[in-house]
Amino acid sequence: MRTEIDSLGEFGLIDHLTKNNETRNAGTLLGVGDDAAVIDQFGRQSVISTDLLIEGIHFDLMYTPLRHLGYKAVAVNLSDIFAMMATPTHITVSIALSSRISVEALEEFYEGVYAACEKFDVDLIGGDTSSSKSGFIISITAIGEVAPDKYVTRSGARPTDLICVSGNLGAAYLGLQLLEREKKIFLENPGVQPDLQQQAYLVGRILKPEPRGDIAEWLQENNIMPTSMIDVSDGLSSELLHLCRNSDTGCTVYEDKIPIHAETTEIALQFGVSPVTCALSGGEDYELLFTIRQEDYEQVARNNNISVIGYMTVKGEGTNLVTKGGNKHKLISQGWSAFG
Ligand code: ADP
Ligand code: MG
Repeated sequence: MRTEIDSLGEFGLIDHLTKNNETRNAGTLLGVGDDAAVIDQFGRQSVISTDLLIEGIHFDLMYTPLRHLGYKAVAVNLSDIFAMMATPTHITVSIALSSRISVEALEEFYEGVYAACEKFDVDLIGGDTSSSKSGFIISITAIGEVAPDKYVTRSGARPTDLICVSGNLGAAYLGLQLLEREKKIFLENPGVQPDLQQQAYLVGRILKPEPRGDIAEWLQENNIMPTSMIDVSDGLSSELLHLCRNSDTGCTVYEDKIPIHAETTEIALQFGVSPVTCALSGGEDYELLFTIRQEDYEQVARNNNISVIGYMTVKGEGTNLVTKGGNKHKLISQGWSAFG
């Protein structure tokens, strides 16, 4: 018998492959199923996360400068470490190279890797190098540290907790649409130079995401311990559903509270899509989505980089979006899927 991977989807596939996975070491505090794993080593806790980036699936070298790619490959991994409220300390970088990639190209890629290491104060401690018959492949593992039992999972939210998100959402998705549009125009008329100066913000959001270590740090400094947290890599809907599923809650979020940049709104309308749909179903924003207890509201409200967008409910109430007009819609996950 043969089952197609498409029939399970990305998350279904991971569940299927790991449902009988057994934990044998007492030091394994958290395994598969969160932004990162947590292991205890003689009282010190380390957080570990790994990500794979494949040419043609996750990036297109036609419009991705290699320096940005190197920076982003590290940044998206660090985002998972920050999403545990941990501090990244080390990375390993493994690459598989097609014959199209030159030494000069790799030097540029590593400039980006080292720039991210410097910015976030992490050490590159190893990796692996191989050849590839099907394009450039990058696998990065990030390791971080956290004070004993101070890591934040996807599963700690409770009904009445407030749902918060950092920065703004949907911009990276539109940045990608702009790049794809320019690529098409260029392929049809190679003489035409792309002009994306006007949309530098959106394009920057897809090419050079900034993981929100600043938000994790601010929460820590202000003694606000989120009850759950996840980074927004696949779109707000998908991440909210992860928090609800893992925390065994429902949620209500308000359309008009979702933070959207003015440029996102402008370009979304140009593309004929709703800006909110970009925030809900676009991806790669790398913002932090988290829940806090109600008593932390006033403190959080003082931070202009954090929006409170709704609250957790009991599971039976379902996962809902309240529109500007006051209608309730069930949130569905149309998030990016590796096999979609
Ligand atoms: P994220 O989007 O935060 O990077 P993923 O959705 O990629 O997280 O992964 C969800 C969980 O499944 C993580 O705990 C990850 O380590 C785990 N996971 C993903 N792929 C595999 C795999 N092939 N085998 C075992 N665990 C996996
Ligand atoms: Mg994540």
